Amino acid sequence: MSISKVEKGYFGQFGGSFVPEELQEVLNYLEEQFEKYKNDPEFIEEYNYYLKEYIGRENPLTFAKNLTGKVGGAKIYLKREDLNHTGAHKINNAIGQILLAKRMGANRIIAETGAGQHGVATATACAIFGIDCTIYMGKVDTERQALNVFRMELLGAKVVAVDKGQGRLKDAVDEAFSDLVQNYKTTFYLLGSAVGPHPFPTMVKHFQSIISEESKRQILEKEGKLPAAVVACAGGGSNAIGSFAHYIDTPEVRLIGVEPAEAPSLTKGVPAVIHGFKCLTLLDEEGNPSPTYSIAAGLDYPGIGPEHSYLKETGRAEYYTITGDEALEAFQELSKIEGIIPALESSHAVAQAMKLAKELNKDDTIIVNLSGRGDKDVEQVFHMLKKDEDVLKG
Ligand SMILES: *Cc1c(COP(=O)(O)O)cnc(C)c1O
Repeated sequence: MSISKVEKGYFGQFGGSFVPEELQEVLNYLEEQFEKYKNDPEFIEEYNYYLKEYIGRENPLTFAKNLTGKVGGAKIYLKREDLNHTGAHKINNAIGQILLAKRMGANRIIAETGAGQHGVATATACAIFGIDCTIYMGKVDTERQALNVFRMELLGAKVVAVDKGQGRLKDAVDEAFSDLVQNYKTTFYLLGSAVGPHPFPTMVKHFQSIISEESKRQILEKEGKLPAAVVACAGGGSNAIGSFAHYIDTPEVRLIGVEPAEAPSLTKGVPAVIHGFKCLTLLDEEGNPSPTYSIAAGLDYPGIGPEHSYLKETGRAEYYTITGDEALEAFQELSKIEGIIPALESSHAVAQAMKLAKELNKDDTIIVNLSGRGDKDVEQVFHMLKKDEDVLKG
């Protein structure tokens, strides 16, 4: 199959669309429809309706008084994506894309999922709009995440276990794209992060930008000035790019992305094409995407959104790594002193913010995006901590 390279959708050298010709046609049509509807007043009104009435926005920007007191230094605020319906930021994007899908006449939604979080958000959005939903998931992942598979099924979705390749996320993405090429007249591919070929990174950023639209208004109300820094974790990069969006053109606000030390695509990656777009990517000796092992399933991805790759290259955003152990400590700390159990993904951002707060002044503020709640992780953390205890007991 010939591969076409499209000039739009670039962030410096990153992004673009490296896909077979027939898929490119489908993506061109998607881009055209997205551009048409994103500024359409009726579309915006309907999106805002669901943000408020279904997701429960706007969510608070909570001052973490106890954490701030304990750490010393800048005031730490938490943007509460954990309070959204379904417990994370992913639903913002799922609702936005499904409204677009409806207007494009799709009667079937497909999506990929790794650990199952995006699959659950997509199945939820399909349930409320009564749209047929198929979720592709690597076979290995369906076995490890049996409860999320059941959750999707409860929501009315069909989960297809992909046993091609290694039976992981990459293979699920490949299956979803091949389904799309065959069924593009009726089917919409609802992609879950700010990755993939154009227009997905731009579209996902658009629907996640609500995070910084709200946080900017909220911090100005509470503090009368912009934050010194915005901190967010980055897997594919959707909650981070949404948290940064309304501050990117304000250089005095530091933008700080946090990756797991076990999957540091921005800190250690090199420019390469994966999943149809160019980004900083972790490669093994043979030049294939490296397997990664973060304790936070949502951060376990060898690539990263193209715009983050560009923000890193230009120096507009800074990226740091946090280890699984540091994240686990932040998970417990925030639970204990603020009564908020964060997702393991978000715990990486909390850990980085605690380091940063100490370096800043008392009248500075930091906004940490709490991308999700940790209920989904409690069982995993239980096993990790219990194992440690057993080791200590000998
Ligand atoms: C999926 C997920 C992430 C990582 O995805 P991004 O696209 O990088 O935002 C982070 N936090 C939570 C809670 C998630 O579910």
